[in-house]
Amino acid sequence: MRLLAAAGLRVTAPRVAVLRVLERRPHATTEVVAAAVRAELGAVSTQAIYDVLNAFTEAGVVRRIQPAGSPARYELRTGDNHHHLVCRVCGRADDVDCAVGAVPCLEPSDALGYRVDEAEVVYWGMCPSCRAAAPKNSKRRG
Ligand SMILES: [Zn+2]
Ligand SMILES: [Zn+2]
Repeated sequence: MRLLAAAGLRVTAPRVAVLRVLERRPHATTEVVAAAVRAELGAVSTQAIYDVLNAFTEAGVVRRIQPAGSPARYELRTGDNHHHLVCRVCGRADDVDCAVGAVPCLEPSDALGYRVDEAEVVYWGMCPSCRAAAPKNSKRRG
């Protein structure tokens, strides 16, 4: 539990369980994390899971992403400002590296004097499984 120690966080069973869940399921929502932690530890309140995730987010142990219209998701891959592909149908999310460089996309065409420290890009679409399941002629018409 090096991550917790490095962040100055006390090691508790729910914290360790949340880390384990996020290792297996990157981009999990609070609901998904809570269900998996309960499967492991028994009764843990959703509020307790929120508290753990908030403490982790503040300490930089996890990154919170919040695609528009979707619940917040959490992942252990922090600090590299990677982007996401999100499926409109099933909500699956995948990581996308930026092609530009190590700290990608932090330079807007005009930053208007802001000091930018994060850019969040979400590519919305339909994931391969949902595309395979979708009827061939179901293309949305405007
Ligand atoms: Zn999908
Ligand atoms: Zn990610």
